[in-house]
Amino acid sequence: MTLRYSTDIVIFGGGVAGLWLLNRLRQAGYNALLLESETLGGGQTLASQGIIHGGLKYALGGVLTGASQAIAEMPARWRAALRGEGDLDLSAVKTLSDHYYMWSNAGLRSRFKTFLGSKSLRGRIDAVPPAEYPAFFKAATVAGNLYRLPDFVVDTPSLLATLSVPVAQQLLHYDAPSLEFTRSAEGSIQQADFTAAGQQVAITARQFILTAGEGNKSLLEKCGLGSVQTQLRPLKMVHLTQPNMPEVYVHCIGDDFSMKPALTVTTHPQDDGSATWYLGGQLAEAGVEQSDAEVIADAKKQLASLFPWLDVNAAQWGCFLINRAEIAYDDNNRPDDAAMLVNHNVISAWPTKLTLAPVLADKILSHLQSADVVPGIHDPSIGELTQQLSAPVMGQPRWGSSS
Ligand SMILES: Cc1cc2nc3c(=O)[nH]c(=O)nc-3n(C[C@H](O)[C@H](O)[C@H](O)COP(=O)(O)OP(=O)(O)OC[C@H]3O[C@@H](n4cnc5c(N)ncnc54)[C@H](O)[C@@H]3O)c2cc1C
Repeated sequence: MTLRYSTDIVIFGGGVAGLWLLNRLRQAGYNALLLESETLGGGQTLASQGIIHGGLKYALGGVLTGASQAIAEMPARWRAALRGEGDLDLSAVKTLSDHYYMWSNAGLRSRFKTFLGSKSLRGRIDAVPPAEYPAFFKAATVAGNLYRLPDFVVDTPSLLATLSVPVAQQLLHYDAPSLEFTRSAEGSIQQADFTAAGQQVAITARQFILTAGEGNKSLLEKCGLGSVQTQLRPLKMVHLTQPNMPEVYVHCIGDDFSMKPALTVTTHPQDDGSATWYLGGQLAEAGVEQSDAEVIADAKKQLASLFPWLDVNAAQWGCFLINRAEIAYDDNNRPDDAAMLVNHNVISAWPTKLTLAPVLADKILSHLQSADVVPGIHDPSIGELTQQLSAPVMGQPRWGSSS
């Protein structure tokens, strides 16, 4: 027997984008279902460093574009949500660090870049007096400059857990290869057919929204929209875990001419009392071309040079490849804002950054309003559907596994 169900909106993909959006849609009165093929957050979201950015990256380039202005407002918007005063109540989300820092350990060029960064951020970066250094930098054995950014760091597992609670009844796990869409002659999607927990399911909806990260490509193909251009930009992230690992949240500005942080460090406490340092930045960009042993050797070298007082002799090291999934623009420009494309009743969407998930939801809600997609379909068989099928489970951060 096929289980049949109708709703206003079906979302594919339960990372931060899909879960944030589902919460906003629910608040706006829409009936919506989210279909997840793997685990919640198990794509990019749980691999991210959880930094809520305020636009340093763009400021280091010396240009304040529209997008960088938009991202500059994000730390304040997230902080309001974390206080329970924003568009979503994130007061249960754990903040790993209230501040994110920038460190340049020496050298005229890196100091210059740091200066440039602070100037174009117009007072939003504060030089930290040594007396106020966090414990790790107080112990520094080399001279350097420390700056405090408006950015801060959230614990992504607690973010996903908090986002999934209010919408728990609207989350379904399904078998992605079984998915088939029925399309109208003019190209709209009318129905999604798939199996879930061994059951055949048919769902009709007015709107289908794709927030499946890397999975958007194959979903777009199934929707007959294979011409939509997407791109993957890989990173090889390094992690090291040991007992008594100090808590550090910092971009380290390098001494070459690259305008990107050489190393981006976040610290993630583990259940056994140890902590993991998770390393991104240029290290992870360059690491894509390196073997695991090479990128780990590079990380060890950089840490020894940046933080000679750090002892990582007992650390377990690991690394893994992970793709950032984004829209691709014809002019080869990298997206720097949340992106959404509309084809008939299919919206494909990429937040580009975890930080920008709220902006993506704004854009989609505003599109729905302008396209006159108003809440209206309430099918009481939702209870039957969610009872018979299974909910997706929460993913695990990949930096938790050390080699
Ligand atoms: C290493 C790394 C570090 C990062 N650090 C930061 C950071 O510090 N700050 C920041 O702002 N951004 C950061 N980002 C970017 C950020 O992680 C992403 O922009 C964001 O998590 C994307 O969220 P998403 O929900 O669109 O995608 P994802 O988190 O990838 O979620 C997509 C979901 O869709 C599911 N799915 C896939 N295929 C299908 C299908 N066919 N049907 C149904 N579901 C499907 C997946 O299982 C997954 O759960 C980082 C990214 C990476 C890779």
